[in-house]
Amino acid sequence: MSALDQIRARALDCRTYNFGMRAADKLAHDDAFRLLAAVDAVTALHQPFDAVMYTGRHQRMVQVCTGCGTDDGNWNRYPCPTITAITTALEGTK
Ligand SMILES: [Zn+2]
Repeated sequence: MSALDQIRARALDCRTYNFGMRAADKLAHDDAFRLLAAVDAVTALHQPFDAVMYTGRHQRMVQVCTGCGTDDGNWNRYPCPTITAITTALEGTK
């Protein structure tokens, strides 16, 4: 289970204990779903897809990002800097 899925599971589990929650706890709880939705929206834009790199005898398949490219008009390899930043923030550096 990814770090994001673990956070989502904890937030969903927490909702069952909503009764009697202090205002600050409830605010943090509700914020969790909004933050999850924000991350989901960004990751939905940055999905991997297979692309052919080079042609001829050096041709090979690579994964590129559907959501971003480089300044020179090429696709960004997947995981792109956006997905790497999200993954690093959630899971730390590996
Ligand atoms: Zn991207």
